[in-house]
Amino acid sequence: MKRTTGKPRLGFFKYSCCAGCEFQTIFFQKAVVETLESFDITYCRMVTSTGTPEGPFDVALIEGTITEAWQADELKKIRQRSRLLFAIGSCAVNGGIPAIKSASTEHEVEKRVYTDLSSIHSIRPRAIETYVSVDGYIKGCPPGERDLHEALTSVLMGRRPVFLEYSVCIECKLEGHICVLVAHNEPCMGPVTNAGCGALCPASQRACYSCWGPMRQANALALAKKFEAMGISPDDIVRKFTQFGADTIQYRKVAEHYEA
Ligand code: SF4
Ligand code: SF4
Ligand code: SF4
Repeated sequence: MKRTTGKPRLGFFKYSCCAGCEFQTIFFQKAVVETLESFDITYCRMVTSTGTPEGPFDVALIEGTITEAWQADELKKIRQRSRLLFAIGSCAVNGGIPAIKSASTEHEVEKRVYTDLSSIHSIRPRAIETYVSVDGYIKGCPPGERDLHEALTSVLMGRRPVFLEYSVCIECKLEGHICVLVAHNEPCMGPVTNAGCGALCPASQRACYSCWGPMRQANALALAKKFEAMGISPDDIVRKFTQFGADTIQYRKVAEHYEA
């Protein structure tokens, strides 16, 4: 793979999303910003208008949900030109916020927003793994320093990234926070949410709303039943489990249960 600086070539690509992941990666996390200096950022529209999306890339970071056919086509080409490809942020990892609309047909959603549909060509929102193979999932909305740093460091060191495979509750207990679910009867999504944020919300006495998305082995229906016993309405329960990752196997089970 051709290099100009000897550094690994990095491309940052954005599809349907708020671009917050890109913003977070480039500007906000000290250890991440320092680690990025070891990369040759050859394509990233947020920081430079020069650079080419043609690659080749040592690593491509993809943010956003795929909601149009051209995006899927372009993504497949990026995959071919990239040695490693990471999904960055809930939108790319599991559909994130754009996947909320997957509860309705595309036509229903389009009609609700636009009067003239002639130039609208949206497709069902999908995580990027629907279209390409993915080498790492950097979760969060937006991701935190721990996972971003781990992903970039793994590329530099030529090893697989290690992401946490347990729930926010574990992080919460390790930090010694008071449980808002037990102590304050708050409907906290921590038991089913993948760790990585350091239990940011419980640290501020707020319930987790699962912006990291579900952990792989989440028993989402059991938590939904707990919320039901706390007096939360079925509609609100479905909303909680479809805000992030509406299209994931874990959270879809809850929506299907209460909408049946
Ligand atoms: S994951 Fe969140 S922060 Fe990142 S692009 Fe999507 S909506 Fe924005
Ligand atoms: S506050 Fe939430 S994340 Fe923390 S232990 Fe309780 S349920 Fe788990
Ligand atoms: S506690 Fe939950 S909602 Fe808050 S940042 Fe972590 S994963 Fe996101």
